[in-house]
This record gives sequence, C-alpha cells and structure tokens, in this order.
Amino acid sequence: MSLTSPSYVRDLLAQHKIRLKKSLGQHFLVDENILKKIATAAQLTKADTVVEIGAGIGTLTQELARRAGRVIAVEIDSRLISLLHEQLRLYPNVVVVHQDFLQFDLGTSEYKLSIVGNLPYHVTAPIVEKLVAAHTILKSATLLVQLEVAEKLCATPGTRDAHALTIFVQSFAEVHKLFSVSRHVFFPKPDVDAALVRLEFREIPRFRAPEDLFFKVVRAAFNLRRKTLKQSLTRSPLLALPTEIALEALAKAQIDPQRRGETLSLEEFDRLAQALATALAQRNCAAPRSR
Ligand code: SAM
Repeated sequence: MSLTSPSYVRDLLAQHKIRLKKSLGQHFLVDENILKKIATAAQLTKADTVVEIGAGIGTLTQELARRAGRVIAVEIDSRLISLLHEQLRLYPNVVVVHQDFLQFDLGTSEYKLSIVGNLPYHVTAPIVEKLVAAHTILKSATLLVQLEVAEKLCATPGTRDAHALTIFVQSFAEVHKLFSVSRHVFFPKPDVDAALVRLEFREIPRFRAPEDLFFKVVRAAFNLRRKTLKQSLTRSPLLALPTEIALEALAKAQIDPQRRGETLSLEEFDRLAQALATALAQRNCAAPRSR
C-alpha cells in the first residue's frame, strides 16, 4: 500500500498510536501526482545530496531517494522516527536524523547541498532565514510553503507584498513560484492552500554594501514600516544614526528621506547601505555588526 493513500496513512498512524500535532505542522502529502511534481521540480541527480526538512512518515523521502544519490531526512518528532526507519528500510541511501532542523548543522561539504521540504508552516520564516544564512553551501531549495508566504518570497521589492524576508532571500537567490497546491492534497487538510517555490542560490549576492550594514538597513526600514526612511535610520535601535549621517547617506544615494523604507528596491537598499558605510568610515564610526 502507498503512503499517498489517506486510509493507509490513517491506519499506519493508528497502529503506531500517533496522533498528529497541528503545532508541528503535521499535514502529510497524500497525492501521488503532486509528490512527483515536487520531486521533479527539485531537479535531483544521483550526484546530489539532498536534505529533507521535516520527513514526516517518509512519503516525499522515498521519492527523493529514488532520484538523489543521498538523502538526509531531518524530523523533529521522536514518535515518527521508528516509523520512518521502517518505511525507508529499502532505501540504503537515506539517513534519518532526529533533530530540529533549526539546530541541524548543514556542514561545510565541498559539494553544494540541495534542500527539499514540505515545510511546517509555523517555522517557515526561521527555516528560510537559516537557508539564506547558509547560501554559500547550498545549490537550491525547493520548498512547499503557505501560498501567502510564497507570494511574500516572490514579491517585487518596493511593492506592498514585500517584507524584509523578501529582500534577504532575493539578495542571495533567484526565487520562483512554480505552482499552487490545493489544501485538499494533505492529510489532515490544513486551513490554507500552498505553493511550491524554488530558490536557486547565486554565486554572487545582489548587493555590494557590507553585509551586516545592508541587513541592518533593511531590518530597520521594515521594523518601522510606517515611518519615513529618515526616522527609520535615526530611531531604529539597530542603527540609531545621528540625523546628519542619515541625511548625508540618503542624499548620496539619491533617495528622498521622506520615503518609507518598504518602498525601496533592492538596488536602492544597496545604494543606501553603501553610502552609509562610506559616511560612517569617514567619521571613523564602526558599522553595526550583527545581521
Ligand atoms: N515530508 C512529509 C510530507 O511531505 O508528507 C511531512 C511534511 S509535514 C508538512 C512537516 C513535518 O515537519 C512534520 O513531520 C513535522 O513533525 C516536521 N517538523 C516540524 N517542525 C520541524 C523542525 N523544526 N525540524 C524538523 N522537522 C520539523
């Protein structure tokens, strides 16, 4: 019997006395066609090592194992681990790791990793941030996320749907929304529809400013969304710049201080952060350090 049969999955979980937890985003894929479309979109070959985020009962893992050289299946829920071993016993190229993906060490392999996951919705943003931070060792990430999040990740910077996460992701990856996925292909059915997005990590980021400063400026702009840029740069605790420096950098970057930060394109954020770096260096001020 197949893991894409809802009645089989129900019986399997009952046999193992497992009640699914909404708090862990446990909505398993039960549609053979969508499963194959996701695995195909991941563009895997036998030369690839893929890390699967949230393996669940191994439905997607099996499909990935048929296509990739090696699969590292990460799952946080201890109750699913023996079940996963059982379902994956015929796939010697799969390693099951019982861990929170947010704590999982992506390592420093010279071969770039592919990431695939039907993501638990409650931790999508920290997972995407972790992937962005690890961009140098990643080839791609093929992620099933809430439709709303997919739209946020793919939004054009400077438009209403864009968030700080949009800028972070698009700074390091080409982002594509591949297709929408109905809530009806999951067991149990979630409250919202989903979409598959693909992140293809770039060799060179889309900004030239010092990374720490670039991200501080982006965060400051979005944290104080209703404020003007002048206010964001001077009032955000991330930067707390003297007004004189903020205005000088805005003038050099040719950006109106009265604009709201969320209206800036990625290139404008970069120009502003570069101008700030110069202004701070001229005054011998240290640029803020953490992202
Ligand atoms: N891959 C399976 C599928 O497609 O049917 C399951 C996907 S289900 C949406 C998300 C899975 O992620 C659940 O099995 C859940 O227990 C697991 N999970 C939730 N939070 C996690 C975390 N922080 N790290 C690793 N796995 C997590």
